[in-house]
Amino acid sequence: MYISPIENHRQREEGVLVYPVYSRRSQGLSMGINLFPDHKYCSFDCPYCEVFPFEQDPSFSVALMETQLQSELSRARNQGIMVKDICFSGNGEPSLAPGFLEALDRAAQIRDAAVPDAALVLITNGTGLFNDKTFQSLRQAASGPMALRIWLKLDAGTEAWYRIMARSSIPFEPLIHTIKELVACAPVTLQTMLCAVQGESPPLQEAAAWERLVVELAAIGAAAACSAGEQAPGLQEIQLYGKARPAPTDPLARALAPAYLEERAASLKTALERSGLPLGRNAIPIRVFP
Ligand code: SF4
Repeated sequence: MYISPIENHRQREEGVLVYPVYSRRSQGLSMGINLFPDHKYCSFDCPYCEVFPFEQDPSFSVALMETQLQSELSRARNQGIMVKDICFSGNGEPSLAPGFLEALDRAAQIRDAAVPDAALVLITNGTGLFNDKTFQSLRQAASGPMALRIWLKLDAGTEAWYRIMARSSIPFEPLIHTIKELVACAPVTLQTMLCAVQGESPPLQEAAAWERLVVELAAIGAAAACSAGEQAPGLQEIQLYGKARPAPTDPLARALAPAYLEERAASLKTALERSGLPLGRNAIPIRVFP
């Protein structure tokens, strides 16, 4: 075994910039890139967040990332392990890091040279999209030859549940507006965490509002024009996942029964099928990771 998820989680807090991990979503080895090796930095404070408080010396630099990424890719190759993706994630919100766009470009170049079949993934809560340069760069990265896969957090369909799940000062409506703008011009995968907070599951009204919002996003993507030579915009996949790892705020958030996640997925599938989206675009894959 190359490395276990929990070992990776701890390693991530010990100042590494690049950390190999078995990813249940990629179903293989993922090279995580951590833009915050010295401390957590995020615009959200999710009750299920796995990042434990820590402080370390090494700060992020693109040069150090390149060295560590090359080294980890060589190690995987020498052990005959296929790298499924290179993934910007780590101890916070990658799109808010000052060196993020440069790091993304360099990681793409290294991917192309060393592991051209590997995907390049960004896991984001979307708050960096308020910066126009970041928005345009990500749109281009996802739509063009870099084929960046944007995995975008959408944990709530109502402001009330958003406040519980994100615990952020960032207002809900402008964030949703920006997410709609992105879906209209770039391919996006949605990620939704379904968990209980302080013993409360997502209320029925929240579940219904989230479902309506996802259907609306699917419709926005389906109606969007695609420029020649670019990846089609819109929703590529919807991932529902449950709380599977320890968090520093445990037991604030708790895992829900896998059957609940499956029910939400089935309900969304039905809603998408009934939405009347253009043929072929209503079959957006929905994947559940309890
Ligand atoms: S967005 Fe991610 S890194 Fe930020 S608090 Fe939430 S789970 Fe943690």
